Amino acid sequence: MSKGKINVAVENIFPLIKKFLYSDHEIFLRELISNATDASNKLLHLSSLGEVKGAVGDLLIEVKIDPKAKTLHIIDQGVGMTEEEVNKYINEVAFSGAEEFLEKYKDTAKDSGIIGHFGLGFYSAFMVADKVEIFTKSHLDTPAVHWSCDGSPEFTLETTDKKDRGTEIVLHINKDEKEFLQESRIQALLVKYNKFMPIPIKFGTKEETLPLPENADKDAKPQTQTVDNIINNPKPAWTKKPADLKDGDYKSFYRELYPMQFEEPLFNIHLNVDYPFNLTGILYFPKLNNDLNIQKDRIQLYQNQVFVTDNVEGIVPEFLTLLRGVIDSPDIPLNVSRSYLQADGAVKKISNYITRKVADKLNSLFKNDRKAFEEKWNDIKVVIEYGMLSEDKFFEKAEKFALYPTTEGSFYTFDELKEAVKDSQTDKDDKLVLLYASDVQEQHSYIKAAKDKGYQVLLLDSPIVAHLIQKLEGNNEKVSFARVDGDAIENLIKKEEATVSKLSDEEKEKLKPLIEEVITDQQYTVQLEAMDSQGLPFVLTQPEFMRRMKDMQQTGGGMMGNFPEMYTLLVNTNHELVGQILETKTSKKRERLIQQAVDLAKLSKNLLKGEELTQFIQRSVDMIK
Ligand code: ADP
Ligand code: MG
Repeated sequence: MSKGKINVAVENIFPLIKKFLYSDHEIFLRELISNATDASNKLLHLSSLGEVKGAVGDLLIEVKIDPKAKTLHIIDQGVGMTEEEVNKYINEVAFSGAEEFLEKYKDTAKDSGIIGHFGLGFYSAFMVADKVEIFTKSHLDTPAVHWSCDGSPEFTLETTDKKDRGTEIVLHINKDEKEFLQESRIQALLVKYNKFMPIPIKFGTKEETLPLPENADKDAKPQTQTVDNIINNPKPAWTKKPADLKDGDYKSFYRELYPMQFEEPLFNIHLNVDYPFNLTGILYFPKLNNDLNIQKDRIQLYQNQVFVTDNVEGIVPEFLTLLRGVIDSPDIPLNVSRSYLQADGAVKKISNYITRKVADKLNSLFKNDRKAFEEKWNDIKVVIEYGMLSEDKFFEKAEKFALYPTTEGSFYTFDELKEAVKDSQTDKDDKLVLLYASDVQEQHSYIKAAKDKGYQVLLLDSPIVAHLIQKLEGNNEKVSFARVDGDAIENLIKKEEATVSKLSDEEKEKLKPLIEEVITDQQYTVQLEAMDSQGLPFVLTQPEFMRRMKDMQQTGGGMMGNFPEMYTLLVNTNHELVGQILETKTSKKRERLIQQAVDLAKLSKNLLKGEELTQFIQRSVDMIK
């Protein structure tokens, strides 16, 4: 038997790193700034331990473009490297000095915010540069060194005369990557990835307008001065303690995050845990309309204040991706596929924690100021209802604060609602029948009819409400929902009124075929019903079940084919006009009456369109002539 070590030749690996390390070339800048930040943070940490001679000063990272030389420079005032360290950290691919530092100082450096991890970040520079140089001087006062490499595995290393502590990385930008010599491109990249990094980053200068002195002349021109263009806010709100922040601080941080958002957030949730995983962040509930389509201002994911992505799918539960804000966690493994993420135990814990925090916040808002909560309900209900549908843990908590508004504008919790209607809205099996409308305008006549009978009518108008109703019924055997214009409302009416029919059985037998003769459309089923004589002669209803399935299909979830629209045409046998239909002898006149009554029923359901509508108008004119 023989044993051995697989020999990985750097010559072969190097081109691979260049090509496949990151699919996005722009990432190199984030990596180099991360290294500069790590170097600065290491220096601060060593200084706090008394291991650095002299004052550290205010540390700054500077990014510069030299358009003539076609170079990009990243300069820091951090720990720097000795010749030995360059050999160890740079010349050995995949050896992470960051990991080594954390290991060495593990008792104290846990919270130092060191970013590096895999020992590969530096080499991402070769994705955009033909040649990379390092000028570095260690804080240990050893001679400065100059490292240079043109992308082949061969490098040169010599001493140089750099005076100040720290490191300058020089990238000779490849001609295919010229965009990285453009000021606007680099500015945009810095803002995207480094806006909240902990060490100030300077990129050129900018003109700043000075405020006019109080006694200034009316037509005095404001003075400007040239100041450093600092990219980042090194202490963003989420890194602070909730106790140190006021409502205004959260709001101004929201504007910092989303400069193009003019609407204020409704409220925020500050996330802060360090065991069993480390996570901080602030989530905001924005005003949401019923449009569930993808929004562009999304939750941003950071690791140690470095922007990673705004695709948090798999990390926060789907219903919370509608929120905005930031999450910062070094514990989220990002070098794995999204589907793997969802199965990862640590990620599951993080996701559960976020769900719980959101539920707790909503509950406390509800408890502490119900009125304010009710006012916000319309803007937040989509998230809550979506959450109740998709996460059982959330459902359990949300049951206590989820609201059911009536068309009159009062709000019930589910328990309160059941209590309110328990004596007045039951069917023959003593099931509660909860009436709801989805559109106050379109279902106006149905709502009015129900209200006239003293029923409570809810206004449930979110796009996913059909799914939610289905779930609530599943959980509560003794509850059923009925839309005011659906057929399920009949259960209630029949039990309540058992109105005597003014028509005899013979008359009814005669009436039905007369109407069916005129209504030949297969979509309509004629049904005689003794209803309130003050109501409409004909009423159209839709089977609750069918309509709900159709709604559910539209928002995903239904698996059946396309449902036809089906309606029941209820003929009110107690209505004067129906009596008249029966008495009319001339068939022409009778048909006209029936047609008119059907069209009125369609009209009240907003179903009368096109040619039918034209005919209806013509007939109406004829009738009143
Ligand atoms: P990682 O950051 O994951 O450790 P990198 O490839 O980004 O890996 O960097 C390798 C190592 O090189 C770092 O850990 C650090 O020790 C050293 N290094 C890189 N850039 C700098 C810098 N600007 N100042 C000091 N040391 C640096
Ligand atoms: Mg790094």
